[in-house]
Amino acid sequence: MPANDTCRIGVYICHCGLNIASKVDVPALEQYAASLPKVAMAKTYKFMCSDPGQQLIKDDLAAHKLTHLVVASCSPLMHEPTFRGVLQDAGVNPYLYQMVNIREQVSWVTKDLGRATQKARLLITAAVRRVALHESLQRSTVSVNPNVLVVGAGIAGISAALTLASAGKQVYLVEREPSIGGHMAHFDKTFPTLDCAACILTPKMTQVGKHKNIHLMAYSEVEEVSGFIGNFTVKVRRKASYVDTDKCTGCGTCWEHCPGRRVPAVRVIRKDAQVIGRTKPAPVQAAAPTIASHA
Ligand SMILES: Cc1cc2nc3c(=O)[nH]c(=O)nc-3n(C[C@H](O)[C@H](O)[C@H](O)COP(=O)(O)OP(=O)(O)OC[C@H]3O[C@@H](n4cnc5c(N)ncnc54)[C@H](O)[C@@H]3O)c2cc1C
Ligand code: SF4
Ligand code: SF4
Repeated sequence: MPANDTCRIGVYICHCGLNIASKVDVPALEQYAASLPKVAMAKTYKFMCSDPGQQLIKDDLAAHKLTHLVVASCSPLMHEPTFRGVLQDAGVNPYLYQMVNIREQVSWVTKDLGRATQKARLLITAAVRRVALHESLQRSTVSVNPNVLVVGAGIAGISAALTLASAGKQVYLVEREPSIGGHMAHFDKTFPTLDCAACILTPKMTQVGKHKNIHLMAYSEVEEVSGFIGNFTVKVRRKASYVDTDKCTGCGTCWEHCPGRRVPAVRVIRKDAQVIGRTKPAPVQAAAPTIASHA
């Protein structure tokens, strides 16, 4: 990476036809950008992503020995790879680049020309300061751990775990309650189809318990996550259940008689602090601890 004092930034501002130019004072931006510290040159062009637009930047990179590039145009989702390619073709590290979105984030959403131009000016200033701090990056390939951690075994976590496990991933499904199932385990019917909640949920709970790729950790909580994408280390605390999982048959008797059981026998439904109904949570009993016990 070139040292900061040898940093020569090129700033290119795109008209995008009238998309940008009708709402942003592009010539004023060019003049402003050229005055910023470390900016060696600033230019505008009607369509920066066109072949002539790209060639213009490429030629300037070589002729003016530019070390860093800022393009103020559209969303990076659209053209960041385009302009990184221009840098690469010109023999400059493609990561010494910063894109400013003055179309979607400025001209398309700001009516007043003065305010739009001011916003674009601020965004360009930030990009110029930021790009000066960029370092040359090299692409490299690293191995990743493809195992997946799913936190929470409600219907969403269960479905995610089953899909991932069926795709061949090793899934660690962590649920803080003794049972999986989440809210749905408490419902009789589900809105809007009024399908039987247990009929949907229970087979999935059973599949989770049996799936060879799912490592169920019920009555457990994530304590610590370290590492980075592709290489995380997670510390999970398994709370004591006082059950010998090798011997437990999942009959549910302990659940029925447990004095410390936290699910209330009667569920009170409130709306605006007013009790509007009482319901017995029928599906809570047997299925839930069965799965948890065999985790
Ligand atoms: C009274 C009520 C009625 C509803 N009726 C309907 C309906 O009729 N139809 C409908 O479609 N939806 C309904 N919903 C919404 C429905 O509950 C949700 O859409 C669905 O159950 C959410 O599933 P979920 O897996 O995202 O979350 P949950 O069912 O809430 O599951 C989340 C799970 O994550 C666990 N968890 C949370 N934090 C942690 C943590 N830090 N570590 C480990 N585990 C954790 C929880 O213990 C729980 O098991 C209703 C909700 C309520 C409250
Ligand atoms: S670079 Fe983006 S803003 Fe410029 S002409 Fe191409 S699409 Fe339009
Ligand atoms: S569910 Fe409870 S009572 Fe039944 S075997 Fe397991 S630990 Fe014992």
